[in-house]
Amino acid sequence: PQLIEFDLIPLVEKVVSLESAMMQEKGISLELQYIAPSLVVNADESQITQVLVNLVKNAVEALDPVEGRSIKIKISHADNKTNIEVCNNGEPIPQEVIPNIFIPFFTTKNTGTGIGLSISRYIMRMHGGNLKHYAKDGWTIFSMSF
Ligand code: ADP
Ligand code: MG
Repeated sequence: PQLIEFDLIPLVEKVVSLESAMMQEKGISLELQYIAPSLVVNADESQITQVLVNLVKNAVEALDPVEGRSIKIKISHADNKTNIEVCNNGEPIPQEVIPNIFIPFFTTKNTGTGIGLSISRYIMRMHGGNLKHYAKDGWTIFSMSF
């Protein structure tokens, strides 16, 4: 990775704005939770952007236009570690699908490439971090840490 210092908060806002038309069309509400108005990190900006785009796109694609659908993005920082959680409600990932989601070219979508999550996890690991999936209280959560 090509490490540079940049502010994560405007980057997240930029990525979200790229998907905002599709979110509006589907009636998806969006909530951003920041610990601070600014969070400077040292990372590869274009790679982190790529991971965020992948996760936000997946969240949007997972949601049908049904009332009460929403996406939450939570950014936190503690002990020199940054964590970004991209969460969506709606149908959880089926138990039998979960073991496959990080495998290159695995997709459950008609026009999917199945490459997003595997590349995203690779990028986070190249940053000394990780990308993990959790399911909690009706939320599908992808957690980037670095
Ligand atoms: P693609 O989006 O092209 O299918 P990804 O690597 O991004 O490839 O995702 C792989 C698979 O993981 C998806 O096809 C889908 O089955 C599952 N998946 C990823 N993110 C979500 C999500 N937020 N909700 C439900 N399923 C998801
Ligand atoms: Mg994808």
